[in-house]
Amino acid sequence: MDTHSHAAVVGAGPVGCLTALSLAARGFTVSIYERRPDPRHHQIGSGSRDNASAPRSINLAISARGLKALSSVNVETDRNMADVVLSHAVPMRARMIHTKDEGQGVKQMSQAYGLNGECINSVSRTLLNDLLLDQASAHPAVSLHFNCKLRSVDLQAREKDPQAEGECHLNFESWEGSGPASRYSALVVGCDGINSIVRSTIARLTPVNFQQEYIDSSYLELRIPPKIEDGAATFALDPNHLHIWPRHSFMLIALANLDKSFTSTLFAPQAIIGRLTSRGAILEFFANEFPDALKLMGDEDVVATLLPRQGKGSPLSSVKCYPYHYKGRAVFLGDAAHAMLPFYGQGLNCGFEDVGFLTNLIDKHGVRGDPGQSVGSGKSVQGEKEENAWDRYSPLLAQAFTEYSKERHPDLIAISYLATQNYHEMSSRVVSPLYLIRKSLDGL
Ligand code: FAD
Repeated sequence: MDTHSHAAVVGAGPVGCLTALSLAARGFTVSIYERRPDPRHHQIGSGSRDNASAPRSINLAISARGLKALSSVNVETDRNMADVVLSHAVPMRARMIHTKDEGQGVKQMSQAYGLNGECINSVSRTLLNDLLLDQASAHPAVSLHFNCKLRSVDLQAREKDPQAEGECHLNFESWEGSGPASRYSALVVGCDGINSIVRSTIARLTPVNFQQEYIDSSYLELRIPPKIEDGAATFALDPNHLHIWPRHSFMLIALANLDKSFTSTLFAPQAIIGRLTSRGAILEFFANEFPDALKLMGDEDVVATLLPRQGKGSPLSSVKCYPYHYKGRAVFLGDAAHAMLPFYGQGLNCGFEDVGFLTNLIDKHGVRGDPGQSVGSGKSVQGEKEENAWDRYSPLLAQAFTEYSKERHPDLIAISYLATQNYHEMSSRVVSPLYLIRKSLDGL
C-alpha cells in the first residue's frame, strides 16, 4: 500500500465514518479500523433494519450543527448524507413536558423549539451508524477493517527509522478476527471514543491537559411500544415532540422511532437507580413518578428491562482536553476529544462539526491525499512525485491541526458547559413558574 496518502481512522462510529468519507473526498486512501464486529451483521436497536426482538439502542437528536457537516458529503448526484439521515428521522418541533402535580394528576405542556417550525430530528444511533458505514464501504478509496482493536500507535516511526513505510505505525491487539498485526500510515485520526488510545498516545509525546468528570446520575434505556389501533401500529404519544417527565433530581425522556415505538431514557442519581433491584421497587417507583409512561410501557416490559440491571445504570461523564493533535501526524475528534453530558443533545452533532471544521482547515492549507490535485490556497504540485509532495504537505497539515486545536477548543468548552447547564433546565427549570412566565411572554 502507498502510505504517503494513507490516512488511518481509528473507530467506525459515526464520527469515524464521516471523517473517512470527508478525507476520501480529498484524495486520501483511508482505512477505518474498528475493534468491534461489523454492526450491520449484528443488528441491535430500535429503528435498525431488522428490529424484531432486537435489544435496545439509544436514539439521538440530530440538529442543524450535525446536518450541516453531513450535508458536505455527497452520496449521489442530487443527495447528500444529511438528506439520507433525514429520510430515516422523525422531526421534533417541540418538547412535551409531562408534569405530576399533587392532586392534579398528570398534565402535558408543549413548548415549541422555535417560532418558525424549527426542529431537531430523532434518529436511531444504530441506524445512523449503519447508514454511514454503508456509504463508507461503498466508497472506492475507503476500506473497513472490523475486529481490529488498536493496541498502540507509534507516531515517531520514521524519526526512529528513516526507512519506515510511514510516519505512523499502528499496532493491533487483534486483526480481523485473528492474531496481532500492524500497519503504517501517513496520518492517524482518532475517532475512538471516550477512552481514546490515540489521545492517550499523543499525551505521552506532548503535554495534553485532560479532565474527565463523572456526575452522580446514570441512565437506563426503556421502550414505549407502538399502540395497536384497529389492527394497525400507531404512535402512543405525539411523535413530533421530545417527551420529558422532569422530576427535579431525575427525569425520563422519550424520542420517537420510525417503527412507531419510542426509545425512553431514565436519568437519575445512583441513590434512586440503586434501589431498582426488585419487581416491587421498580413498579412502585414508576407508578409513583411516571404513571402515564408506565401505562404505555407496560409493567412486564419495564420489569424485564430493569430487573437484570440490578440497580446499575450506564455512567455519564464529560471529557475536556487540549490540544487535540500531534504535529501533522495525528488528531482526535468526536467523543475522543470532548465527550459531553447528553442533556443538550449535541455530543454527536459537535463530533460531526469537528469533521467539517478540520477538513475546512485542510482545504485552506491546500493539502490533499492526491497531491497533483490542489485545492484551497492553490499550492498546486502537478506532476510532483507523491513522496516529495507529502514531505512538503506534512508541515502544512501540522499548521492545519494547530489551528484546529486553537480555534475549535473555545467552542467545545462552551458547548460542554451548556450541556451540563441543560441538565438543570430539563430536569427542573422547564416546570418552574418563572421559566413558564418568561416563555409565555416570549410567545413560545
Ligand atoms: P463512539 O460512538 O464512541 O465510537 C467510537 C468507536 O471507536 C466505537 O465504534 C469503538 O468500538 C471504536 N474503538 C474504541 N477504541 C478502539 C480501539 N482501540 N481500536 C479500534 N476501535 C476502537 N449526541 C447528540 O448529538 N445528540 C443526542 O441526542 C445524543 N444523545 C445521547 C444520549 C445518551 C444517553 C448518550 C450516552 C449520548 C448521547 N449523545 C448524543 C452523544 C453521542 O452518542 C456521542 O457523542 C457519539 O456517539 C460519539 O460518536 P464517536 O464516533 O465520536 O464515538
